[in-house]
Formats: sequence, structure tokens, C-alpha cells
Amino acid sequence: MHVMVLGGGVTGLATAWYLACDGHEVTVVERNAEVALESSYANGGQLSYSYVAPLAGPGVLSKLPQWLTQPHSPVQFRPRADPDQWRWLLKFVLACTRAQSELATRRLVALSFLSRDLMRDLLNREPTLSFDYAKTGKLVVYRNEDSFASARRLLHFQRSLGCEQHVLTARECTAAEPSLDGLGLNLAGGIFTPSEETADCYKFCVGLAAKLRSKKVRLLLGTEVTSLRADRGRRAHRITVHANGREIAADQVVVCAGAASPDLLRPLGIKIPLYPLKGYSLTAQILARDAAPHMSVTDFDRKIVYARLGDRLRIAGMADIAGRDATPDPSRIESLRSEAARAFPLAGDYARAQAWCGLRPATPTSTPVIGATRFANLWLNLGQGALGFTLALGSGLLISELVTGRRPSVPLDGFAVPS
Ligand SMILES: Cc1cc2nc3c(=O)[nH]c(=O)nc-3n(C[C@H](O)[C@H](O)[C@H](O)COP(=O)(O)OP(=O)(O)OC[C@H]3O[C@@H](n4cnc5c(N)ncnc54)[C@H](O)[C@@H]3O)c2cc1C
Repeated sequence: MHVMVLGGGVTGLATAWYLACDGHEVTVVERNAEVALESSYANGGQLSYSYVAPLAGPGVLSKLPQWLTQPHSPVQFRPRADPDQWRWLLKFVLACTRAQSELATRRLVALSFLSRDLMRDLLNREPTLSFDYAKTGKLVVYRNEDSFASARRLLHFQRSLGCEQHVLTARECTAAEPSLDGLGLNLAGGIFTPSEETADCYKFCVGLAAKLRSKKVRLLLGTEVTSLRADRGRRAHRITVHANGREIAADQVVVCAGAASPDLLRPLGIKIPLYPLKGYSLTAQILARDAAPHMSVTDFDRKIVYARLGDRLRIAGMADIAGRDATPDPSRIESLRSEAARAFPLAGDYARAQAWCGLRPATPTSTPVIGATRFANLWLNLGQGALGFTLALGSGLLISELVTGRRPSVPLDGFAVPS
């Protein structure tokens, strides 16, 4: 069967990989001249299999006033005259219950643990893939006693899902990760998860694209899909793909177009509650090896992640619900730069760090949309939000299982395409 994957980010490439492994003829269509130049380019580098709780949680509503008013808040809401933004926000607010948050966490853990197993299989099978992968474990540090106390309360629930995590005092945090010494006095404590990993998502995508080419997968780069059309005249309930002024034919089509997906699907009457959450990163050359964290570190109260990627330090954070424009806001970059310089002052060349911003394709519940549509040849794999790198392999395998007609490796409840 010839399957066309729309989008050459980490989700599309992982989908193409499993389809090709299942023996399908695969074509990836990507509008940019190279793969992974949008949200998958310079993300936080976290393969964060145990930290999948959705952004919408029971404690979030009390923070909304801060998001609206404080310019340096890690999450910002900037109202727009855009009904999609308000609809998304309403659904997000409705999802801020303990029950919904725990349900979403359960579903996401199943998908992330599948992805973790697949990553290990892939590394065994393709040892030449080189993408600054490291199994360092993740230390989440808390500056605030209240947030540390609620993290400790959550531990029991996380353990019931199979996550192995340990509570550390402030002193144990700095003993485990000496580069935190500068922050040590301000810490309430931390939670350490040994199984977490870090890697460079862009390098992963470039490496996977090379492996795909060697499996005879066609990568149609610089090819923008302009429309998906319901082809009622010829074959009811099927769609055709149009790009560069012509139809490109395939038996099956999988949309993995990240934050751009709703625009492609709207004309077909498929409304996906997906809104971009804009985030930022800096990539700094490491100047002093021991001053930079060796394990993955998350500064929970500032919502900033730090990952060592080879000889570089990746710093990422911020979530702005502020429209679809991917232009960076210089004040957000400066906030990130000064937070990093305060947390790990001697670690990196922050002045010359490479700044980037990207749009996380987020659903209100943080659960992706993976599955069939009412069109016989159209499938969706999108909305992985803040966890797209972490969930890519599991999401890709699920689509291949569905398209091939096999039983999915994890239940699809909660991932279905909205009707
Ligand atoms: C600041 C930041 C930090 C993050 N940190 C992490 C992290 O630490 N760990 C983690 O797991 N996730 C993280 N994420 C999330 C992760 O990066 C995304 O979820 C993931 O990259 C989404 O991948 P995607 O393939 O779905 O989308 P994209 O990477 O955006 O890929 C979609 C592709 O589709 C193409 N496309 C769109 N429309 C068309 C069209 N009409 N025709 C042809 N091609 C089209 C685009 O050009 C693009 O290449 C972070 C995101 C941000 C912004």
C-alpha cells in the first residue's frame, strides 16, 4: 500500500519509519527544504517518559490571573480576537479537574512507556543513529515548599502508574547534581527519575530521514500541501491531496502537520481543538564542564528545562497562548537568558547562545489525536503538544498498526479524532 505522510517533523518521520518497517511504500511531504525545521527543531531535548501530566490540572485555575497580568510569568495568555483561542481556553479550563488530569496522565504514560521501549529497540537496531542521546535521569527541583509538597503528594499516583521516582532534600539535590550549588540555598527539594533521557530532536530527525531514504521512502521536500479535498464525485468518503498545483496520489494519507494541521483539516469539516503554545529555547556552548548540569534538570517553579546535548546546553521553557505567529518575542528570550545565567552562571556562553522559538501543537487536555477519520483513507497523528519528541515513536507505531489493520499496542481511548 502507498501511504503518504504529510509533515516532516518528528511525528511524521516516526510515522513514516513504522509504516516503512511494516512494508508499505511511503512518501513524506514537507513544505520546508529540510526536515524538522519547525516545532521539532530546537525543543527542550527531554525524553520525559514519566513527566507527562497535562498542563490543565487542578491547581492551574488559581494561576490564570498571574498568566494574564505578569510579563515574566512562565505561562502567558494574550487574548486575541480569535474564536479558536477562546474555544480552546474554555475547553482547557473545563479540563482543569483532578479526574480529567489523572485520566490524561494514565493515557499518556501508556503511550510514553511504549515510546521509551521503542526508543531502546531503535537504538539497538540502528546503532549508527547519532543524536546526542543520553540516559542521564531527570531531576526536577522545587524552589517553593508548596509546590514541592504537592509534587510529593503526586508521587504516590505516579508510582501506581509504574514511574520510578525518588524524593531528594535540597542537600541531596546538590550532591547528585553539584552544578546546582548556586541554586542550592533556594531549593526546597527535588524529585529524581532515573529512567529519563535527553537527546537532540533535530539531529534525531535528520538521522531518521537518512534511514528512511535507505529504506526507499520518498521525501518530497519543498512541497507545500495546499488542500485536502473530499473527492465525492469519484470515490465517496475519500480525500485527495493537492500540492504545488497538482494532485499527488496515494492509497492512504496520514496528517502529521503539527500546529498547521487544523488549517488543512477545516475545509473537510474536521475540527481539531488544537492551539499553538509558543515556547522558547537557547542553545549555549558549554564553557565549563562541571558548571553545567550532567543530568536533565527542570526548574519547576520557573518551568524551565536544562539538557546537556553533547558539548551544548539546551535551555527551554515558556508557554504563550498568544496566537499563531511564530515570531520570537525578544523579551521572552532575554527572560530565559537571565534565568539560565542565574541558575548555572558559569556553565555556558549565554551571550552568544542560539535563540529559537516554536509552536507546540497542543490540545486542551494535552492528549494527542491519533486515529481514523470519517474518510476511508485519512488518518491523523497530531497534537502531541509539549511531548512531541517523547511520544513520537509510540504515536508513529500506533498509526502504522491502524493502517496495517493490526491491534494497537496501547488502548486508543482518549486519542480518537473528535467527531
Ligand atoms: C520550546 C519548546 C520546547 C519543547 N520541549 C520538548 C521536550 O523537551 N520534549 C518533548 O518531547 N517535546 C518538546 N516540545 C514539543 C515538541 O517539540 C513538539 O511536540 C514536536 O516537535 C511536534 O512535532 P510535529 O512533527 O508534530 O510538528 P512539527 O515539528 O511542527 O512538524 C510538522 C511539519 O509539517 C510541515 N507542514 C505543515 N503544514 C504543511 C503543509 N501544508 N504542507 C507540507 N508540510 C507541512 C511543517 O513544515 C513541519 O515540518 C517542545 C516544544 C517547544 C516549542
